[in-house]
Amino acid sequence: MADTADIVVIGGGCHGTSIAWQLARRGAGKVVLLEKSGIASGATQWSSANIRLHYQIETLARMALYGREMFRNFEERVGGESGWRNNGYVVLLPEEEIEPARVIIEMQQRIGIDARMVSVDEITEMLPGMSLDVVAGGCAEPDSGHADGALTANSFAEAARREGAELRIGPEVGQVTAIESPGGGVRVITSNGVIESGTAVLAGGFRSAGLLAPHGVELPITPVRHTIAIVERVEAKGLDDSHATISDRVQLGYYRPSGPGLTLIGAHDPLEGEIDADVETTRRPQAEPTALLAGRFWNRFPGQAEARLREGYTGVYDCTPDFQPALGPVQAVPGLYIAAGFSGHGFKLSPAVGHLMADWILEGEPSFVDLSMFNVERFGRGELIESGGGYESRTLA
Ligand SMILES: Cc1cc2nc3c(=O)[nH]c(=O)nc-3n(C[C@H](O)[C@H](O)[C@H](O)COP(=O)(O)OP(=O)(O)OC[C@H]3O[C@@H](n4cnc5c(N)ncnc54)[C@H](O)[C@@H]3O)c2cc1C
Repeated sequence: MADTADIVVIGGGCHGTSIAWQLARRGAGKVVLLEKSGIASGATQWSSANIRLHYQIETLARMALYGREMFRNFEERVGGESGWRNNGYVVLLPEEEIEPARVIIEMQQRIGIDARMVSVDEITEMLPGMSLDVVAGGCAEPDSGHADGALTANSFAEAARREGAELRIGPEVGQVTAIESPGGGVRVITSNGVIESGTAVLAGGFRSAGLLAPHGVELPITPVRHTIAIVERVEAKGLDDSHATISDRVQLGYYRPSGPGLTLIGAHDPLEGEIDADVETTRRPQAEPTALLAGRFWNRFPGQAEARLREGYTGVYDCTPDFQPALGPVQAVPGLYIAAGFSGHGFKLSPAVGHLMADWILEGEPSFVDLSMFNVERFGRGELIESGGGYESRTLA
């Protein structure tokens, strides 16, 4: 007898697991999650998992807000751990970005986000010890913070299982090799046979593009391998284990606490890294990008000149041409939905993506925001999303 499902979700990263959980808890019938390696074995496991609401696009700010509220009550709402820490988020701005930042803050305040502009003096009070020469001001989000990608995805997956979803994980049972459109429903070809399904959701990160291509659907994704440097801080006032995450828009880096005595350093620009389509391979960081990242931290914190470099790691961003994801139904394959191409800023959006994709599939449209701008067909038409408002979108504002 043919293997069947009501909904197949492809990919066990933060998005696939969040979607599977939402579908299962909302009574979507037989939900099967397919993952070729392990839960959180893609970008999710390497995520810095910063949760900030500083977006130029209001829809994304609303989605990030939904996500942050879920992270703040994760145990109660989902069950299990997410690694949530409310350490706050501070943006450092050059002069020319003060006005664009004001526009973002006004939008955030209008939609109920506690964010505000802060002066250089206020920043110095919050985070003493920084050299702020060319910083003209900043923004602060006291309620924001960070979590842990792997913990979160595993908790979503467990919650999905508790709600009755079937998890097929590993190369023997979870690898999808093709998606077919037999005319009524979706046929998912796996390493273990065929699943006839009413609906499927493709949340396979970088690999999603290859599964769409045979249908003539363009999802251009550039895989960019990012380095994360880690420093062991020297003791200093204001820079302890709960220091705010600092988004440094002058040097294009971010600095985030990462366990006892450590700060991790990442790059702002999604294209800062090497193109590497071998996304499944774990690679150690190279000396040059590590030194560049650590140099930004040392410039910013001259008192940390003695901070020691620890071994960092690398992870791959799935960058689309406008650095925004593809979300929603795939017109060329009736019954197929896509949630991929998050371009290095998707972790914080994953609770909202789960909720909204379940709305779309079960109710016909997403509930609390309009996601139509994220349609996958925009790439084929060359109609990219413009973030507007002043910052360049590729710096992930
Ligand atoms: C270094 C780094 C730092 C980041 N920092 C942040 C941050 O601070 N804040 C933030 O919000 N975001 C951040 N991100 C981005 C965020 O982590 C990603 O957007 C998010 O994890 C993407 O999740 P995903 O589920 O779409 O993809 P993935 O996590 O890549 O999951 C896709 C899954 O699909 C599986 N799969 C692929 N093909 C198939 C197939 N054919 N069959 C079955 N399974 C398949 C893969 O094995 C994988 O497990 C960062 C990313 C990186 C790499």
